[in-house]
Amino acid sequence: ADVIAVTGSASGIGAAVVKALRADGHEVVGVDLRDAEVCADLSTPDGRRAAVDGVLGVAPVLDGLVVCAGLGPHVPDPMQIVEVNYRGAVEVLDGLFPALRGAAVAVSSSASTMVKWADNPIARGEEAAALAEAGEYAGHLAYSWSKNALTVAVRQRVSQWGAAGVRLNTVAPGAVDTPLLQAGLASRFGDAIRNYQAPIPRRGRPEEIASLIRYLLGPDAGYIHGAQLMIDGGSDALLRPTEF
Ligand code: NAD
Repeated sequence: ADVIAVTGSASGIGAAVVKALRADGHEVVGVDLRDAEVCADLSTPDGRRAAVDGVLGVAPVLDGLVVCAGLGPHVPDPMQIVEVNYRGAVEVLDGLFPALRGAAVAVSSSASTMVKWADNPIARGEEAAALAEAGEYAGHLAYSWSKNALTVAVRQRVSQWGAAGVRLNTVAPGAVDTPLLQAGLASRFGDAIRNYQAPIPRRGRPEEIASLIRYLLGPDAGYIHGAQLMIDGGSDALLRPTEF
């Protein structure tokens, strides 16, 4: 059995990943604010260190890692979204890299493609100033900037991780039925989410994302490295047929 750490393990996609991995007989070390083996707040540098130290305390060697913890665009403080979705993911990846053999998966989003890296204020460390001026769409901008930065951070690590024999990929879900999406539906942007239809005319299920993550962690995905796999019911191809 493998030992696999999963952040955001208490809810939604992360909880579905934990369930799938445990069903395969793996040992999972969950990290979340509560209801987890390691309780830590990934929105602060101290919390991120506590998360890494907590995982290493239970599992000094890891066969796999899934960074899934995240906040949706509806969260009132947009900097919190950047802290959890971007820094909370990248610092856990980097902090646990020395302990990893096997593979890691970061849960990005189809929103990662909605901004170009050259236009992403996170690239220049200017997101706080940019968000202060962003008005009512600050949460959405913070979300797509943080997911764009996460996907770029993963792609920038292919040499180092490849040399160490550790595969690293992102999955980019579209709308998936989880508490995060339900909170979005209940916000003032709910109608926009409700009215949007993917080519496969339903929302994704957490188990479907978990199934892809399980595959990416496993030996059948041995040559997949540095990839971002869209799992969005066809939305990306619909919106950007000539860009890939
Ligand atoms: P969810 O709210 O059900 O689960 C997110 C988990 O992250 C929760 O258990 C929460 O406690 C944890 N978390 C949040 N802030 C944290 C913090 N500061 N420290 C530690 N843990 C924290 O949401 P979900 O939909 O399952 O989202 C999982 C991931 O999938 C997120 O990164 C999200 O951005 C991404 N995603 C979701 C969708 C979707 O439509 N649901 C689409 C694309 C990407």
